[in-house]
Amino acid sequence: MPGIYLHIPFCRKACTYCNFHFSTSTQSKALLLEAMAKELELRAAEIEGEVGTIYFGGGTPSLLEIGEVQRILTDIRTRVQVAADAEVTLEANPDDITEERLAAWKALGITRLSLGTQSFREERLRTMGRAHTAEQALRSIALIGKAGFASWTIDLIYGLPGMDLAEWDQQLTIALDHGMPHLSAYCLTVEPRTALAHHVKKGLVTMPGDDAQSAQFDRLMERMEQAGLVHYEISNFGLPGHFSRHNTSYWEGVPYLGIGPSAHSYDRRTRRWNVANNARYIAAISAQEVFWESELLTPAQRTNELLMTGLRTIAGVPMDLLEMNALELNRTAADRHMERGHLLVRDGRLVLSKAGRHFADRIAADLFVTDHDRRDHP
Ligand code: SF4
Repeated sequence: MPGIYLHIPFCRKACTYCNFHFSTSTQSKALLLEAMAKELELRAAEIEGEVGTIYFGGGTPSLLEIGEVQRILTDIRTRVQVAADAEVTLEANPDDITEERLAAWKALGITRLSLGTQSFREERLRTMGRAHTAEQALRSIALIGKAGFASWTIDLIYGLPGMDLAEWDQQLTIALDHGMPHLSAYCLTVEPRTALAHHVKKGLVTMPGDDAQSAQFDRLMERMEQAGLVHYEISNFGLPGHFSRHNTSYWEGVPYLGIGPSAHSYDRRTRRWNVANNARYIAAISAQEVFWESELLTPAQRTNELLMTGLRTIAGVPMDLLEMNALELNRTAADRHMERGHLLVRDGRLVLSKAGRHFADRIAADLFVTDHDRRDHP
């Protein structure tokens, strides 16, 4: 079933490592929500069939007023058919969590809350530039656990400068002690044009080496396995029944409509992305001008996307869905990864072993094909 992604491009503060599209000024919020409503109206007909998942991402969707979330959901339900059991996720930051807001979101039909915790340590949150405190993170995770959502998840970051295994263990213990049914754990990466990149360049911050990050990833897999959370995607762990349906759809190539500045859409043939600028998005929609770019995917691009996303999942890549024979076209690299025990073929699917998960992106890149391969190969 198709999904809808809504990009809410506002944050209270800029986190030092973040390169998503957002603005710390909410002055244009009303105009932007109006433009998003207009985009939905213009594009609702692109949805074929019932919508199975709705995802409020960003940015920080939890800084929307309850009435604003309600208007968006009402609009969606008026314009498209939404499945009765649709998964409706809202990303929230700890500084926005109160018992009242949790109850209001639940009453509006939000079924899954995704909490941007990142760390339970005060000094870490300060260094990352997060808008919330450790106390707020702890309090909000306790409140969410009791709020009765069908599911919920938290985000944590590892591979931080100076982080050791004891610190990472402690973070995981706190999360598990609160009965967390799902975790998204990301290894810190230095993205271009972020404050973190600037600090690293100036020598103010030293990033940990691959060995430290790799040991933390191993510990993460070990602790989640002990707790019964399934490692269903490289960065995602969930109890059975708590996997993110929306994100799983991305990895399985299900079409989705992305609404809002910088949002991406996919319809199995074309990728489309909206302008990543609030003012230009609002102006273009009101002037009925084009506010997106798009590209028709070639067989090689579709093959590479399946490899890139599928190899990150526990289910792997169904080989019969690959339009080009990536294994055959990259025989030497494929054999090398197989001999090392990192890449396997199991039940007609290409999958990574536990050890191979450390190198998911590299292995996928080694198997990438080009449209020239298609012409050159018999
Ligand atoms: S709250 Fe999220 S989207 Fe906003 S700056 Fe921080 S990491 Fe980026």
